Amino acid sequence: MTTQPLTVRDGMVVTLDYTLRRENGEIIDTSVGREALEYLQGAGQIIPGLEQALYGMVVGEERRVVVAPEDAYGEVDPEAVHLIPHSAFPPGMEVEPGMVLQVRNQYGEVSQAWVADVQPEGVVLDFNHPLAGMTLYFDAKIVGLRPATPEELIHGHVHGAGGHEH
Ligand code: ZN
Repeated sequence: MTTQPLTVRDGMVVTLDYTLRRENGEIIDTSVGREALEYLQGAGQIIPGLEQALYGMVVGEERRVVVAPEDAYGEVDPEAVHLIPHSAFPPGMEVEPGMVLQVRNQYGEVSQAWVADVQPEGVVLDFNHPLAGMTLYFDAKIVGLRPATPEELIHGHVHGAGGHEH
């Protein structure tokens, strides 16, 4: 019997340390100093460009991954920016640029938007993901690998050490 090192492939639970930066080097998000990210490879739980780049890596390996917008949060859609009249907001609500709002449409679906501008005619809401249109720079390090349990494979996500949590 030969032992082969575990590698990142479909059906593996990957524990990942990462730092995400913009092109200018500014840190957007990092797991350093917090808990590493645990996800199921091949289940589409992380952005496609990052997931693709991690195939074949082993524990302890580090990789710089550059992800184009189309493999991350998509291009900016100009049609996803809307001017909403002030009357559509609850009276007395303080709306300021940069705020993130949960918006319910006429069909009852909730989506997230951020306030791009506040104008006399209304509030400019941008439904694009805040990272849309951006090339993302990841420093990724594999810190753990294990085969997913059959239950995790069926569910398409990782179950915590405490068992099944939903
Ligand atoms: Zn589950």
